Amino acid sequence: IINNDDYTNLLEERKEHIGRNLSISYQQKLKIVRGALQYLYDDKGNTFVDCVNNPSHVGHCHPVVVKAMQKQIATLNTNSRYLHNNIIDYAKRLTATLPPSLSVCYFTNSGSEANDLAVRIARHFTKQKDIIVLDHAYHGTSTVAMEMSPYKFDSKGGFGQMPWIHKAMNPDLYRGPYKYNDREAGKKYAADVQRIIEELKKENKAPAVFICETLLGVGGQIPLPPNYLKEVYKHVRAAGGVCIADEVQVGFGRVGDAFWGFELQNVVPDIVVMGKPIGNGHPLAAVVITNEIADAFNNGLEYFNTFGGNPVSMAAGLAVLDVIQHEEMQQHAKETGEYLMDGLRKLMNKHPLISEVRGHGLFIGAEMVKDRNTLEPALPEIDIVVEKVKTKGYLLSTDGPLHNVLKIKPPLPFNKQNADELLQYLDESLSEL
Ligand code: PMP
Repeated sequence: IINNDDYTNLLEERKEHIGRNLSISYQQKLKIVRGALQYLYDDKGNTFVDCVNNPSHVGHCHPVVVKAMQKQIATLNTNSRYLHNNIIDYAKRLTATLPPSLSVCYFTNSGSEANDLAVRIARHFTKQKDIIVLDHAYHGTSTVAMEMSPYKFDSKGGFGQMPWIHKAMNPDLYRGPYKYNDREAGKKYAADVQRIIEELKKENKAPAVFICETLLGVGGQIPLPPNYLKEVYKHVRAAGGVCIADEVQVGFGRVGDAFWGFELQNVVPDIVVMGKPIGNGHPLAAVVITNEIADAFNNGLEYFNTFGGNPVSMAAGLAVLDVIQHEEMQQHAKETGEYLMDGLRKLMNKHPLISEVRGHGLFIGAEMVKDRNTLEPALPEIDIVVEKVKTKGYLLSTDGPLHNVLKIKPPLPFNKQNADELLQYLDESLSEL
C-alpha cells in the first residue's frame, strides 16, 4: 500500500517551489532526517542501511570529517586567492595517490563542473573540438557535460547529439556483441573508437578528447573488459587526443583492488576527474592534469572558481583521505565486495531473475532478466524487489540503459553483516514475487 499522506504538504510545497523535473526516490517517499556511517534514519524512527549513496564514501557524518570541517569553518572560509596551507596540503596528498605524471590540480564544486573544465583544458591543448564518449554514459549536468552524456541527450526531453560528439560502443561483455568468452573483446570494443577516429580523419579532424568512466556507472555498473583502455588510449593518443578518466563514481578505493579505477586497466590517463566521494558529500570535485597540459592551459586567461579549493572543502578532502587510510577502507571494500558478490552469485542459482553479478569491490551490479536467453529486462520485477527490500530496511536502486541492473555502491563502512541481511532480504523478496 502506498501511503504518502503524512507528506502531502511537503510534496505540494516541493512541487510549488522546487524545480519540477527533480524526481523523488521510492514509491513510498522517505523523509530522512539523520545519517551515521552506512545508516540513514527517517522522521518516524526507522533505520535504513544505505546501499547506494557513494558520495558518503567513508560514511554519513563520519566524525573525523565533520570535526575537520567544523574546525575549519569556525576559523576561516574564503576563496583561494590568499595563501593557505590546506589547498597545498590537499593537492600534495591527492596527487600522491596518483601516478607521478598527474601532478597539477584544479578544484571545483561538482563533478559536472570538473568534467566541463577538463574538456575545456583538453580542447585548448589539442586545438580540436570533437569528443568521443561511450554510449549511455553520463558525465554531468552542465551544458557541455550534458552534450557528452548520451544518457541525457538521447532520452525523452533531451536535445539530441551535437555534431562534435561521437558515441562509441558500450564495452558490455554481457549484452554487447563481444562477450566474456572472447579474449579479444577489449580490443574489439576499442576498435569502435578507432572507427570514429578514422571517420574524423576523412573530414580532416581529430579527437580532442576520449572520455569514459573506469567502471561504467549509469551505463549499467559494468567493469571494462581486460585491455580495453590500453587499446583505446593508444588509438586516441596516436590521433593526438587527450584521454580523460571520469573517476567521479569509481575512485578513492571503492573498487578494492586499487585506489583508482584506471589502475585496474593498467593505464595512466592524461586528465583525471574526481567528484562525489572526494568530500564525503560536501560539494568538492577536482581535475588533475599533467604538467605539460597545465603549462599549455596557462595561456594568459585566468581560471578562477569562487568556492573551488576553499579551506573548508580542502579540510573535508584531507579528512576523507585520512579516514580511508586509517580505517583501511580500500581493503575493507575489497573483502566486503567479494563477500557480497559471492552471496549474490549463490542467489542466482535459486532465482533465475538474477542473471549476472559483476563489479569490483563495493561497486556492484546485478542484472535482472525475465529470460536468460533473450535477456529481456525483468520489469517491473526489479522495481518491486527494490520496494520490498526497502520495507525491510535496505535502500537499493537501479541503473543501466534498460533500467534492469540492481545498483549496489554503499558508503564503505557497509559490512559483512549488512551484506548477509541484504542477501536474506533479496532472497525473501524474490521468493515473494
Ligand atoms: N560523472 C559521473 C560518472 C557521474 O556519475 C556524475 C553524477 N552522477 C557526474 C559526473 C556529475 O557529477 P555532479 O552531479 O557532482 O555534477
